[in-house]
Amino acid sequence: MRIDGAGGCMENRIYEVDPQVAWNVVMLSINELGVTVDSMDTENKLIRFHNKEKIMQIALQCLDEDSVQLIMDARKERLQIYNWKVENKEVLAFFEIFEKKLREFRAFVLCPRCQAKVSSLAKFCPECGAPLK
Ligand SMILES: [Zn+2]
Repeated sequence: MRIDGAGGCMENRIYEVDPQVAWNVVMLSINELGVTVDSMDTENKLIRFHNKEKIMQIALQCLDEDSVQLIMDARKERLQIYNWKVENKEVLAFFEIFEKKLREFRAFVLCPRCQAKVSSLAKFCPECGAPLK
């Protein structure tokens, strides 16, 4: 669900994915957004960051073992009550990158021994030969 208003935007989406994997993908996606990270709370899975125009935060809530709710909030530094322009550019950009990376991540696993990115269908790591799963 997305709520737009007053120079800001908030959106939440639910994904069926391991919470730790989701958090890793959030980190990778934020890297790609080109923003400055202000604070990161790995334990509570909350990250605050900004770009030139907006202050943003993302919270990851574990719904159960393999589903998460991702909430992103972006707003201008000062609330603009009379601004009716939709300000969802960053939020949409983030979810687009996140979902793309999540698809990529699902198609690969990381080798537990050498951390190589390996097809999730492989039985052995092609880099180091370690058995997968
Ligand atoms: Zn390996």
